[in-house]
Amino acid sequence: MKYLQTRALVLRSRSFAETDRLLTLLTWDEGKISAKAPGARRVKSKLAAAVELFTCGSFLLYRGKTLFTITQAQVETRYSRLMMRVEDYARGLYFAELVERLLPEGEPNPQVFQLLQNAWGDLEAGAVDRELLTRYFELRLLLILGFRPHSDNCLFCGDTVGPFYWNTTAGGLFCSSCRPSGQPGIPLSRGAHALLRNLQRATGNELKTLRAPPAQQKELADFTSRFLQYWTDVGPLKSLTFMQESRKSKVESQKLKDKG
Ligand SMILES: [Zn+2]
Repeated sequence: MKYLQTRALVLRSRSFAETDRLLTLLTWDEGKISAKAPGARRVKSKLAAAVELFTCGSFLLYRGKTLFTITQAQVETRYSRLMMRVEDYARGLYFAELVERLLPEGEPNPQVFQLLQNAWGDLEAGAVDRELLTRYFELRLLLILGFRPHSDNCLFCGDTVGPFYWNTTAGGLFCSSCRPSGQPGIPLSRGAHALLRNLQRATGNELKTLRAPPAQQKELADFTSRFLQYWTDVGPLKSLTFMQESRKSKVESQKLKDKG
């Protein structure tokens, strides 16, 4: 089959040759692929609208030897509000980059497609705690790809009460009596532990009503970042630094506003 008709999310879109764009698409039918959009940077191009970042579209693609070529494209949803707020832009980009880095080429994964589409949709609608959405996205993506932090009880004795210490290498928790002396682990507060478990169990709708104090959020952010780096070996992510910086500058400008 030389042609592929499929829905896709635009994970990355960059300038290529004189007037083209080179895209990383997450397609419904064939997973992550690279595709060229010939002439998409021309003002009158019919492809222009559908090849922008944060777009869900319907694509007709010609299968080349190393690359697909987009022959037709239609926008289904454009998450345009993500382009208007730097913090949302950074976060939407982080979700896309995580998917791009962790998913192998050419393997369909409808669950990841749905997860990313919902996450962009939630950011666009703005009806969710953005930090919790980010933790939810990280944990869910890891779960789909086969990595689940063991958070139910102590790995050794099964204690469910805690306090617990997180052990990255073991991928789970130890209670204070069982934690190995050579690897004491990172203490996880009761609140952060409960938040982790809530996020692991929550449905997309439940996520919308979930709230947590900043200290627990920070603990959990450190936790997911360590887990992600250790178990997936994803390496440094440009979009993560960008997201953290955009958050910091938002906090700074809020402080200035509060002072003034
Ligand atoms: Zn124990």
